[in-house]
Amino acid sequence: MSDHDTSLRTPIVAVLGHVDHGKTSLLDKIRGSAVSDGEAGAITQHIGATAVPLETIADMAGDLVEVEDFDLPGLLFIDTPGHHSFSTLRSRGGALADIAILVVDVNDGFQPQTEEALDILQRTGTPFVVAANKADTTPGWNPVENSPIKPSYDGQSDVARQRLDENLYEIIGQLSDDGFSADLYWRVQNFQKNIGVVPCSALTGEGVPDVLAVLMGLSQRFMKAEMEIDVEGPGEGTVLEVKDEQGFGATLDVVVYDGTIKEGDQIVVGGVNDPIVTEIRALLQPQPNAEIRVENRFERVESVAAAAGVKIAAPDLDEAMAGAPVRVVRDRAVDDVIEEVKAELAEIEVDTEEEGVVVKADTLGSLEAMANALREAEVPILRAEVGDVAPRDIAVAGTAREPEHTVILGFNVDVLPDAERELEQSEVTLFNDDVIYQLVEDYEEHVAEMQRAQQ
Ligand code: GDP
Repeated sequence: MSDHDTSLRTPIVAVLGHVDHGKTSLLDKIRGSAVSDGEAGAITQHIGATAVPLETIADMAGDLVEVEDFDLPGLLFIDTPGHHSFSTLRSRGGALADIAILVVDVNDGFQPQTEEALDILQRTGTPFVVAANKADTTPGWNPVENSPIKPSYDGQSDVARQRLDENLYEIIGQLSDDGFSADLYWRVQNFQKNIGVVPCSALTGEGVPDVLAVLMGLSQRFMKAEMEIDVEGPGEGTVLEVKDEQGFGATLDVVVYDGTIKEGDQIVVGGVNDPIVTEIRALLQPQPNAEIRVENRFERVESVAAAAGVKIAAPDLDEAMAGAPVRVVRDRAVDDVIEEVKAELAEIEVDTEEEGVVVKADTLGSLEAMANALREAEVPILRAEVGDVAPRDIAVAGTAREPEHTVILGFNVDVLPDAERELEQSEVTLFNDDVIYQLVEDYEEHVAEMQRAQQ
């Protein structure tokens, strides 16, 4: 670290879990409660993320969080829930999110995407807390709006508590089957060693203060060292999305996890082909007031320091890639920064073989996640690329020697109009979905069907 000022940045939080288990509701509840409980403007809406300051968390969490026990500034929640965005969002050498909430419907228990999310959390070594959601649907449960869960749990009838307990222990057992030692959060001493399970309800708000308290405690006790940044250092971030914006052309939605980004900075961004070198024309944040015409949706800011979400407007961003790194050049040689970006991209590159299927995905991270899933299912990959399905992909898939490999697996991509026509006239089968296990399942079923047809 240089002799610049250092500062503790906000930990970045992602929300994962199976579809319909309540990820979006939980995020909404946290944001909504922060607005109604805190001082006006106590949350800041960023591009792609919401910052909840420590004071607001302390307001929401009552006795569970005392401001004087913490020196981390709060929590930055990534607005798009789901492990798709989690695995897409990488930082140098790991996951972009420092910490995660795994949402599990307490009645529905573990489901395929819960397992997938756990796999990713384990692989990336991301500390997390389990939000055992929808506790309010336990028969006989008397909701205590927005309260910490422990007193309301203790105050329930024996029957209600027993029913909830059964479901909670099922979840704890499933975590243990997957190699995680877990317990009800009020029994956990070390949240890094033992996963805390917090019964909660995104609907009534019960237990939500407890989820926040566990996240803060976990960050403050075990992750403080990693939150130390050189505030004057050249900004580093990850592209969430490449978006055309009226008046700006292609822009980047970026989460900055280190240093500072300023207007006018020269940056290097990972591109579909080579790294892109450009200069920041404007840094944009959402306007604090809603109901704004399109052209006024953003306000310009001069600089942003980590951790923050921001939109970057700059020339030549059309070929920038979602999930790719963004680096400010500042006092360094631009070639060195280009090499850094290349090295980071190379880490994510997928190994391909001479025979196999074609994989297309919307971002680098999802491409990597797809490749991992296919490797586990022992499906060889001939070509793996970020981008929509193009005629060239159909030609490549058509060269596979084995009929079961004349397949394109698309993750969250579109089919270009030219490709549509070619696809119809070819032998190639396309599967396109935004759920990885679904794609793998569809593919396996397809192969099984072909084998049956041959017999
Ligand atoms: P996601 O797909 O994981 O983002 O799930 P959503 O947040 O969209 O929730 C799915 C459904 O479950 C919606 O109808 C929610 O209103 C409902 N839901 C979410 N959390 C709770 C909860 O704590 N209690 C109850 N009763 N319903 C919930």
